[in-house]
Amino acid sequence: MSESAQIRSVLEQVFGFDDFKPHQESIIQASLSGRDVFAALPTGGGKSLCYQLPALVRAGNTGTSDIFNIPNISDDARSGGLTVVVSPLIALMKDQVDAARASGIQAACLNSAMETAERREVYQALENHRIAILYLAPERLAVEGAFEHLIEWGCAALAVDEAHCISEWGHEFRPDYRRLSLIRSRLRGIPLTAFTATATPRVQNDIIAQLELNDPFIVRAGFNRPELFYRVEPKRDTLGRITEFVKARPGRSGIIYRSTRADVEKTAEHLNRKGITAAPYHAGLPDESRRRTQDEFRTDRVPVIVATVAFGMGIDKPDIRFVVHGDLPKSLESYYQETGRAGRDGDAAETLLLWSAGDMVKSRWHIDRIEDEAERRRGSESLTKMIRFADTFACRRSILLRHFDEDHPGGCAACDVCTGEVESADATEDARKLLSAAARTEERFGAHHLVDIIRGTRTEKVEQRGHDRLPTFGVGADAPRRHWLNIAGDLEAGGYVYRDEERFRALRITEEGRELLFGRREFRTVRRTAAKKERLHAGSLRCSSGGNQEQERELSDNDKALFEHLRALRFAKAGEIGKPPYVIFPDRTLKAMCALRPRNPEELLACPGVGKRKLSAWGALFLDSIEDFENGR
Ligand code: ADP
Ligand code: MG
Repeated sequence: MSESAQIRSVLEQVFGFDDFKPHQESIIQASLSGRDVFAALPTGGGKSLCYQLPALVRAGNTGTSDIFNIPNISDDARSGGLTVVVSPLIALMKDQVDAARASGIQAACLNSAMETAERREVYQALENHRIAILYLAPERLAVEGAFEHLIEWGCAALAVDEAHCISEWGHEFRPDYRRLSLIRSRLRGIPLTAFTATATPRVQNDIIAQLELNDPFIVRAGFNRPELFYRVEPKRDTLGRITEFVKARPGRSGIIYRSTRADVEKTAEHLNRKGITAAPYHAGLPDESRRRTQDEFRTDRVPVIVATVAFGMGIDKPDIRFVVHGDLPKSLESYYQETGRAGRDGDAAETLLLWSAGDMVKSRWHIDRIEDEAERRRGSESLTKMIRFADTFACRRSILLRHFDEDHPGGCAACDVCTGEVESADATEDARKLLSAAARTEERFGAHHLVDIIRGTRTEKVEQRGHDRLPTFGVGADAPRRHWLNIAGDLEAGGYVYRDEERFRALRITEEGRELLFGRREFRTVRRTAAKKERLHAGSLRCSSGGNQEQERELSDNDKALFEHLRALRFAKAGEIGKPPYVIFPDRTLKAMCALRPRNPEELLACPGVGKRKLSAWGALFLDSIEDFENGR
């Protein structure tokens, strides 16, 4: 069999996929030819497979026997050597090992969080060459004799995952990644591959230099995430909106980011009071409770996590269906990384950003207090770009990608602007009425009082202050109160007014607000259109039904019922084996089962994500369950 046919057959038989994702094949070929590789692929781009598959080929564990014979991976089949994967995420290693083993790959890990006995067992297996992939925490390279051990165990290739951690320019620098610069001199002649989801060229050059990659094969993939839907709204009733959003997506995994610990706790409490199971996560909580929360999230026992950005890189859960930002992120990079945690499995997922000028003011306050001047300037530029993204009436995806120097024509059909969920309307006149009411009352009153004036409501306060004699009194009686409060909110979100916390939240007019008031600029509001109410962006399904033809179709109601049925089965089985449900099958595979309704093992194998190993472990159970469902049992 040619090498290219061989790697395709491993892809199908071990991983159960019938096609590569972009760049996977060329990366794998370069690596197997002995070349160093640098690959920047977006989150969900399938980086793991780029080192797992060559590792299997090297180890001679290619599982190419008869499809109903599960490759006997526990036997000594190692001839070509061990692949070492350096990964910073100790908390995640067990999951990575579990996921690899579920596909029949002999994987193990070594890190300082393991018991001595457990570690000894792994050493034994390594000495006996029974391991194809070893996940190693970077701090293990500091252990006496570490490199000598790797040579002894037959290390034939080394992959560095999350390679940006080596760079101080990256947003997740890890001092212990520094040791990796020793690899080249200590492990001569083995191919190195480096993977990251960070897009900037500066970090790329730093990684290549520090790892001393030798004439590497370089891949920079596009950073578009077509499976993500982007939605941005002005912040009004934050807790109410978050609750409504989560309620409309029952049982789905999601992360809600808040910027302070206090808001994290408040939001989690609020959701629980409204009957949604949600757990808080921030750096101030005890390790034990954070670990438990992460574990419950991983295993789908807690669907929603409310977190600060401390809940970050350790999240490899592939089936997160939404990410909500309850506050403005500090930069577009952070926003991209954080929203990117949804939809790793390639299935549709949603993002929602709530923001207000109040957020902006708070962020500015923090930035102004940064001592280092260059850093302060960077912070300020990042914030300005973030606000422009949130406040523009243009395809969100095109703005986001342009920030990463990637061209996108716009009209993406998967953001609130492109789907017409929001539309902009000229509101210059109304904005001036409100600003004028504020100016004529010396900017001493809050939005509610100003709206009373505009609508001509004779409250006690209005009459006492003589505000019923102002020229603006009653000029807006024709529109409902809500309309005027929305205008006030939009003016605040756009930075035309701000609430003065020291003066009873009086609306104060900013420089931009004055320009608007005096006719030097216009004002448009973005409105959610009544006709096009928020559409859940979760139903589309890509399923390949034979051949390489990607087919997209919506699940029918009956399919959805079966999906819930299979999800419940998966959840129960995962509980029994103490693993996250997605280790059994990802959502995509369950959806394909719903659409294709397999009746026998061959048909089940045609579902993406079903390989021989999983077929033998779970095939009968799921086939029976589908049959029962169809027979109405
Ligand atoms: P990354 O590390 O780049 O963020 P992962 O390696 O975690 O991405 O892979 C993301 C998801 O894509 C996983 O659920 C994985 O099983 C899936 N995947 C990887 N390669 C393929 C492929 N060729 N076809 C379909 N799905 C794939
Ligand atoms: Mg990864």
